[in-house]
Amino acid sequence: MASVHAMLSGGVGPDGSTDAARVAEDGVKALEVLRRSISVDVHTHGGPQGIYSPAPPNGSLAAGMRAGSLAAVCLSEIPDEPLLGRNAAGITGITRLPSPDELYRHHLERLAWADEMVAHHGLQRALTAADLVSAHTAGQPALIGGVEGLDFLEGKLERLEEAHQRGIRSAQLVHYTPNDIGDFQMGMVTHEGLTAFGIEVIRDCHRLGMVVDVAHATEKTAKAAAKVSTKPLLLSHTALAGCRAMASARLAARQVTPDHARAIAETGGGIGIWAIFPDLDKYVEGLKEMVDVAGVDHVCVGTDQQVAPGALQDYAQWVNLISAMLRGGFTAEEAGKIAGGNYLRIFRAAVG
Ligand SMILES: [Zn+2]
Repeated sequence: MASVHAMLSGGVGPDGSTDAARVAEDGVKALEVLRRSISVDVHTHGGPQGIYSPAPPNGSLAAGMRAGSLAAVCLSEIPDEPLLGRNAAGITGITRLPSPDELYRHHLERLAWADEMVAHHGLQRALTAADLVSAHTAGQPALIGGVEGLDFLEGKLERLEEAHQRGIRSAQLVHYTPNDIGDFQMGMVTHEGLTAFGIEVIRDCHRLGMVVDVAHATEKTAKAAAKVSTKPLLLSHTALAGCRAMASARLAARQVTPDHARAIAETGGGIGIWAIFPDLDKYVEGLKEMVDVAGVDHVCVGTDQQVAPGALQDYAQWVNLISAMLRGGFTAEEAGKIAGGNYLRIFRAAVG
């Protein structure tokens, strides 16, 4: 910091120092945003050695979060991960159907992995908004339990309650495995939206205190969820349909139309933008595209780390993402909202 201030107050310096000073000044402003507001990656798997890795947890996630001043991650386990693969066209999907209780067993195993992470590797579990506030005040990286797809329920709502007891606070309804909740974006439409069981699941999430995440759901499913939900919804990782800044048509089927996004915003909810962009400046353009249709109070950061190539492969870069937002024209207040403030509002309303 001393050298930053010296540079800022030093007036004319050697060639290049003006740019260097500007970069340093952006960094100071970005750190100020992260000091004042609680930032959250609303959808992550925690990097290459994260929660879908067969390796046991280690301290690299907490270390990266500390280095980049990221306050909290919603760390999502993937119950149908053992089934996933790519077909000949390179499209992600399931390669076989699960056997009974197979995904439930995988889910329990991943819950144990998260327990181990919290017990020994520097992340504090956040069960309430108050926990997020106290962790941020103490400078302690926080973990919010998430689950990507409720495929492990197999019709048993008591498994949702068990997940809540084990610390899950964010529940994504569908992923890549056909389930009895609703249709998902890259699958066959079999339910024409949300099922009666899906409605029960949403009501139970409200009762227990979990954020309902409609990422991967079809537009019809998401809109039906918005209709029955009495709490703000999250759509944790996507980009606007036809997103120019992504510079790739890959994952177009996972993007959302302006109407789809607005249906989420109208619940008071938020849309997380994944970090699958060529660089941080392009990522900020992707955020802006969504802000233009959904409003600055309804956009979040949901990196989907570790999906490559991505603009944020390492949380040490988090502060640089905030700098890029400021450089890209967002005010400090807006950057604070997108980086976590909007999610905090959703989390408070759904979880308490
Ligand atoms: Zn996903």
